Amino acid sequence: MAFDYGKFVQGGIGKQLATALGLPRPTRLRRHDPKGSLVPGAVYVTGHGDAKVAHRVSAWLERAGVPIATSPSTSVAALVLDMSEIETPADLETLRAAVAPTLKTIQPTGRVIVIGRPVEEATSVAQGAARRAIEGIVRSIGKEMRAGGTANTVLVADGAEDAVEAPLRFLLSGRSAYVDAQVFHVATPVAPVEDPSDWAKPLEGKVAVVTGAARGIGAAIADVLARDGATVVCVDIPAAGGPLVEVANRLGGSALQLDVTADDAGAKIVEHTVSRHGGFDIVVHNAGITRDKLLVNMDADRWDSVLQVNLLSILRMNEALVPAINDGGHIVNVASIAGIAGNRGQTNYGASKAGVIGMTSLLAADPTIVAKGITVNAVAPGFIETEMTAKVPLATREIGRLMNSISQGGLPIDVAETIGFFSWDASRGVTGNTVRVCGQMMMGA
Ligand code: NAD
Repeated sequence: MAFDYGKFVQGGIGKQLATALGLPRPTRLRRHDPKGSLVPGAVYVTGHGDAKVAHRVSAWLERAGVPIATSPSTSVAALVLDMSEIETPADLETLRAAVAPTLKTIQPTGRVIVIGRPVEEATSVAQGAARRAIEGIVRSIGKEMRAGGTANTVLVADGAEDAVEAPLRFLLSGRSAYVDAQVFHVATPVAPVEDPSDWAKPLEGKVAVVTGAARGIGAAIADVLARDGATVVCVDIPAAGGPLVEVANRLGGSALQLDVTADDAGAKIVEHTVSRHGGFDIVVHNAGITRDKLLVNMDADRWDSVLQVNLLSILRMNEALVPAINDGGHIVNVASIAGIAGNRGQTNYGASKAGVIGMTSLLAADPTIVAKGITVNAVAPGFIETEMTAKVPLATREIGRLMNSISQGGLPIDVAETIGFFSWDASRGVTGNTVRVCGQMMMGA
């Protein structure tokens, strides 16, 4: 059986060794429990100036039945700090004064969420500096948080305040367990933000297409979307037909065997979803491959196959999918931190995943997409425990697992939960974003 550092240090000699040597001991993360509460305790809500966004946050937390604390004196489960009215770097003192005492008492797996405004909308250089400073502070807080806690920033464009609930709900919940030190950009929604009638089933009545759904992260995405109410069309290559049908049957969805690189892949998906389910609302481009080699040894086949599966197929399929997806739908792409930080031996993969990130921001702003009220976002997973990473040599694997602020690898469900959040109609203010699901991995931005 493979050595697992995380399990080894949970008890006995492993625990003693880790304590004596000051080595990290991963905390069991708080993940989504459909029967549990949104937050396992009170949320301390405060802010700078009039803190108008904070007042809205308090109002919906109250409606959601979440207890609110007005001071950090008690141990809270989360802190939501509204810095949207910051004018100069001197105002950052409000942030220090609110977060410092909270960090002393915040519960394990606590959340620090700071609300700011986009730098591009600043009305003075000093205000722009102050707004940008928030990101630096929050990323540093992420590295100082203990016991599975996370710190994230939500930047709300002027006039987009009504769209802030969905990202806050996601970040406060167990769905965001492995999302750390990220910046969520909330813009004026591309279509009306619609709260689900039941937050336990935010995708009720939706039809979702997931490529690469036979195993790994894709199967977890299909699981989460189905758990949250969607009918899932599971797509994978014919060679993965057996497991694909198992996933689709387990979830009450349908299976579609095809190679995403085929010229007619997009048309086949449209045909299948229209004839079987009357159309589709969500597309998750998850299918992906690696063919690693140092660039000096990289042949044209390895180069081309990775770019074809991971990037070109998405561009090609979207030509058929974009006109056919229901208005107000959601497209989510699976990138990778290799597309942000680069990886030795992965020039082809890094190129494809960086291309996915570029495509995401451009497609989100495309006039056809905007006119149809569709959101386009991407996730960039870090080290995720899958069959792929289980095969990585021991030392590299343990480094990958531990070199992040949460001292453990993420699970496929962590990637899937973020994709689920991007697929909510309540998340329509969030488009063109790439969010890393990496526990604040110590590589890349
Ligand atoms: P995986 O290899 O376990 O699963 C990929 C699935 O895609 C397989 O079922 C495979 O059959 C399918 N697929 C491959 N080529 C296809 C094609 N041409 N047409 C249709 N289906 C095809 O990989 P995974 O770890 O679950 O990764 C899923 C996605 O997440 C990929 O895009 C990958 O690049 C990305 N990712 C994974 C990690 C990680 O740590 N595992 C990290 C970053 C990004």
